[in-house]
Amino acid sequence: MSKRDYYEVLGVSRSADGPEIKKAYRAMALKYHPDRNPNDAEAEQKFKEAAEAYEVLSDEQKRSTYDRFGHEGLAGGGFQDFSSSQDIFDAFSDIFGDFFGFGGGGRSRRGPRPQAGADLRYNLTIAFEEAVKGTEVDLQIPKEIECEVCAGTGVEPGHQPETCKHCNGQGQIFQSQGFFRISSPCPICRGTGQMIAHPCKKCRGNGAVQETKTVKVNIPAGVDNGSRLRLQGEGEPGRNGGPPGDLYVVLSVEAHQHFTRQGQDLITTAEISFSQAALGDKIEIPTLDEPIPMEIPRGTQSGKSFRLKGLGIPFIGSSRKGALVVNIKVKTPTKLSKRQEELLHELGELEAEKTRKKNKRSFFKKNKGEA
Ligand SMILES: [Zn+2]
Ligand SMILES: [Zn+2]
Repeated sequence: MSKRDYYEVLGVSRSADGPEIKKAYRAMALKYHPDRNPNDAEAEQKFKEAAEAYEVLSDEQKRSTYDRFGHEGLAGGGFQDFSSSQDIFDAFSDIFGDFFGFGGGGRSRRGPRPQAGADLRYNLTIAFEEAVKGTEVDLQIPKEIECEVCAGTGVEPGHQPETCKHCNGQGQIFQSQGFFRISSPCPICRGTGQMIAHPCKKCRGNGAVQETKTVKVNIPAGVDNGSRLRLQGEGEPGRNGGPPGDLYVVLSVEAHQHFTRQGQDLITTAEISFSQAALGDKIEIPTLDEPIPMEIPRGTQSGKSFRLKGLGIPFIGSSRKGALVVNIKVKTPTKLSKRQEELLHELGELEAEKTRKKNKRSFFKKNKGEA
């Protein structure tokens, strides 16, 4: 059988660069991988062909030899032919990484791989004032910590872990599937290559125990509903020397009796009487600290808003603040004393008279205009 052109095999042009070739090979390898095409001899052949083409075209020297002399040049040039597919896996495990869950032949020789710890999420509810002013909270976090009795090994002190007999300490078991040897993690020792005949009594061989850890969290002033704080390294511990995960604190802010929030503005409502609205007055406005005085100008309408700059919610990490927005609501009295009622009647008559006069004037004006 004559060999196909390597560029043709990977479907790239002769001028393709390294990343292009790598990408094309990866796509091929994924498509024709025997795990995805069980008992398919043609896919198997294509997979092997692509691996061989990549082996040559990804190596500058081999590629230039191939460009000049073709397959013949390589045959005599010390090009290593693949004797088994395990070699393919070993040669390209850097490309596949963990993707297929194999390539472990090489991995088990290097020992277990470091694994980063998982991130944790903590939902925390805080009061409205705490969100505006910032606060410090101690969180009780259930988390796995390394067992101190066995120092994380899972082995009862005074004993040694034994080599797993199922995989002979390889951590991987190999199965033949036609031309290929497929490796998968040993189910007995879960890929560690070791068996624990005498598990640690405290952690039952897990190497880790569940404990509650107190984590201090500084909540900055100005946070809002849904704000997320990241505490680096406070997640679950890593395995085999991997870094710990992060802790994410997700905030919910309780509603407030007197205030709502719009961005960094603090919104509140002040009720004033009809006479205060008409004549103007000095009133007190609640804030999250002490109440402050505010001037109501004469003739203030219901629904009017006043913006008091710098009395709102701080921008996180800044001394700048939004405004305190005061929405004015003019209260209509419902219970009146006799005297109040008299005065309002009097006021009403005055208003009615004023209206009559005004209408009369406009009536005369109208007639004049028509005359
Ligand atoms: Zn232990
Ligand atoms: Zn094993």
